[in-house]
Amino acid sequence: MPQTWLECIRCGRKYPIDEVAYRCESCGGLLDVEHDFNALKDRSGAEWKELFSRRSRMSEWPYQSGVWAKKEWVAPQINEENIISLGEGYTPLLRVKNLAGLPAVWVKECGISHTGSFKDLGMTVLVSHVKQLISQGTQIRAVACASTGDTSAALAAYAAAAGIPAIIFLPRGKISTAQLAQPIAHGAIVLGLETDFDGCMEIVQQITTDKSIYLANSMNALRIEGQKTVGIEIVQQLGWEVPDWIVIPAGNLGNISALGRGLMMMRQLGLIDRLPRIVAAQAENANPLYRSFLTAFKDYQAVQAKRTLASAIQIGAPVSYERAVKALREFGGIVEQASEDELANAAARADRAGLYACPQTGVALAVLGKLASRGTIKSHDRVVVISTAHGLKFTDFKVKYHEGALTDVTSRHANPPVELPADVPAVRRAIRERLRTEDL
Ligand SMILES: *Cc1c(COP(=O)(O)O)cnc(C)c1O
Ligand SMILES: [Zn+2]
Repeated sequence: MPQTWLECIRCGRKYPIDEVAYRCESCGGLLDVEHDFNALKDRSGAEWKELFSRRSRMSEWPYQSGVWAKKEWVAPQINEENIISLGEGYTPLLRVKNLAGLPAVWVKECGISHTGSFKDLGMTVLVSHVKQLISQGTQIRAVACASTGDTSAALAAYAAAAGIPAIIFLPRGKISTAQLAQPIAHGAIVLGLETDFDGCMEIVQQITTDKSIYLANSMNALRIEGQKTVGIEIVQQLGWEVPDWIVIPAGNLGNISALGRGLMMMRQLGLIDRLPRIVAAQAENANPLYRSFLTAFKDYQAVQAKRTLASAIQIGAPVSYERAVKALREFGGIVEQASEDELANAAARADRAGLYACPQTGVALAVLGKLASRGTIKSHDRVVVISTAHGLKFTDFKVKYHEGALTDVTSRHANPPVELPADVPAVRRAIRERLRTEDL
């Protein structure tokens, strides 16, 4: 029996792990990577925890990566010489007081990473896998993805490190300058198309029917395997204790599926004995999962995503919808949405507490605030919010917020700079006003 294989999430048909396939030939379902649990059960839950804890204290390659520290669970098929790692994973889990209406919230800072978002977790596995396929003689000319920004940054960086050409399909004018700069800097072929993310996704799927162009979007199961380490890492960082809730921004729905898979694997292999509840946070302007949740997932319709500040989740036809519904059912999931005004002000409040929240993290924090004020999430519950990207990627959003220049947003925490002549009394006066003091 092989250690890993691809398996259709609908009909269960299996494919070898080294086959270039993204959908089932029989039924069109997405494929997941499956693992030989009997082999993994050679170690007890306690032994796995011991091993993972030991590796987290080691600087030995490749275990200094939070993803490759869990290699047996993620990609045992990949030989070490093919691993392309840029130090992904092991991101900080911060305890932040007085956030989103709760006395304390844990924030998993996935944006503190090589390319500035959680996409690194999946891309290290995908690109390493491709490197291995090429070394085995598979004809792959390039890797390709459609992107709302962060996927392309991660793919371009890992592909550059591997020496594999990357082709990036971006919706023209819909991603931040910082995000566009990354793939360009890494030498990727960047194609800006006159469409939205969903339109780019359509085209990349057609281009990659030629198997020599390898598809790197999260419908590709290899990425999900790397991303699933986030849930494992959270529990590990909490001293192997399971939080009550994990709140995650959701767009194409790969990451929420990955979160569920990692946690489920921990339970199946005896590392934990209960599961957290998961909250999917969507932007009101791109909310197909939220709408479906309102019908208990009986109805589902793709929507035309409207423009949202949370551009990384501006997706109307999420590819991993089925995977996400499975995860939400298993984890007592809730879906909630946030408006532009809510997400921008939630991000600004987080910044005042010392974070630097990207707009997607703003969506998660706004949603958490709603569930806390409704009493769904209690003040003594242990809550983890997944911060998906670094705020520095969204400088336009920050600057415009503080200028009061964002559409549909009232900047309640605007803090514009004070412009003054180079004059000491004027400067004193300004500081006095700001500090609300007379004696200066
Ligand atoms: C990709 C991304 C998301 C959404 O993840 P999905 O897997 O598409 O649901 C959220 N936030 C940021 C910053 C992202 O880059
Ligand atoms: Zn199938």
